[in-house]
Amino acid sequence: MKNNKLATERIYRLFELANENKDYSKRYIQLAKKIGEKTNTKIPKELKKTFCKKCLSLEIKKIEKNPFLIIKCEKCGFEKKYSLN
Ligand SMILES: [Zn+2]
Repeated sequence: MKNNKLATERIYRLFELANENKDYSKRYIQLAKKIGEKTNTKIPKELKKTFCKKCLSLEIKKIEKNPFLIIKCEKCGFEKKYSLN
């Protein structure tokens, strides 16, 4: 089984906590990633688009540029492109 349901729930919860406690958001996201790796669970797509892959900041800007969605980090400037489809 690739996606562990319990792990996914924990990942969602950690992201909730990260959004509630911005001072510790990096830690929560790190932990969520660790759970994902340990349990071989992917971080849900919708969550992946809410933080910077490089510095794990939640302060990102979403720019829609058909056919892409660009996630730009306001902290380190890192950009990640996602397909809108
Ligand atoms: Zn960043």
